[in-house]
Amino acid sequence: MAEYYNANTILYLNGAFVKATEAKMDFYSQSFHYGYSVFEGIRSYRTAAGETRIFKAKEHFDRLKASAEALNLPYTYTTQELTAVTYALLEKNNLQNAYIRPVVYAPANMSFNLNTESFIVIEVWEMAPFLGDKLLRVMTSSFQRPNPKGFKIQAKAAGHYVNSILASQEAKAAGYDEALLNDMHGFVAEAPGANVFVEKNGKLYTPGLGNILPGITRATVLELCAELNIPVEEKMFTTEDMYGADAAFFCGTAAEVIGLASLDGKPFTAAWENTIAKLIQENYKNLTLENKSALLTEVMGVD
Ligand code: PMP
Repeated sequence: MAEYYNANTILYLNGAFVKATEAKMDFYSQSFHYGYSVFEGIRSYRTAAGETRIFKAKEHFDRLKASAEALNLPYTYTTQELTAVTYALLEKNNLQNAYIRPVVYAPANMSFNLNTESFIVIEVWEMAPFLGDKLLRVMTSSFQRPNPKGFKIQAKAAGHYVNSILASQEAKAAGYDEALLNDMHGFVAEAPGANVFVEKNGKLYTPGLGNILPGITRATVLELCAELNIPVEEKMFTTEDMYGADAAFFCGTAAEVIGLASLDGKPFTAAWENTIAKLIQENYKNLTLENKSALLTEVMGVD
């Protein structure tokens, strides 16, 4: 298991900075028993200028609030306040390149009743930016994403991640790097912890909203496409439609932009270096690192 904290690590717990080794939570919490909590996955980067920047802080803390509201969890924090707390927490832990994990959770409550209060913890640990060109071998999962009529699928709720864990474990047990899950209607939805794009004949496609977590990285990729004049379309498609396409990639805060080598053993056919996907990967990297050099446009004649 990875090491997330040590004897010196500080976390933020309900208004106070405390040692991770001394922090306590209630084992009678409704969150622990029923997976009823909401969280975020955020990153900070050491920028090209050497500063610490939380990437898309507003978007992430706004989504945390929206997730809490979707699940009827009391939420008394502001995005501004949590952003400031997180910068302080990074400094206390001497971190620049970090993963940031806020969790809003419920008090002791074994019933299914509403709560009048909730709690927050923010944990941070080191995470270096992804600088490689590794490509993932992916399998279509036998698990579907949860039915949006059974869950608030747009919320980043802890309980949803049992589905992600099952899918990812299944893929790894079968010798793949990661899973790709369909929605309940058999259309491609997303990876266990990332959204997906596919590239065909100079154009990108990604599943529309409704059956997926509306990823902040996905939104950033759509913005990059607009800036770079890359044609992109949100539409439903199947894994069969993806087989043999030029390229595909997953995108998410932790994954950043990472290419796929193959889906169900069928390789994507363009050389990664020559794809729009690679261009998006490079430009996303520049954004996170605030590398102010011009947007890269040399690949595939995109201008
Ligand atoms: N889908 C799922 C299921 C996820 O867990 C994540 C990671 N938060 C994403 C997509 C990508 O979201 P984001 O780009 O906001 O990290």
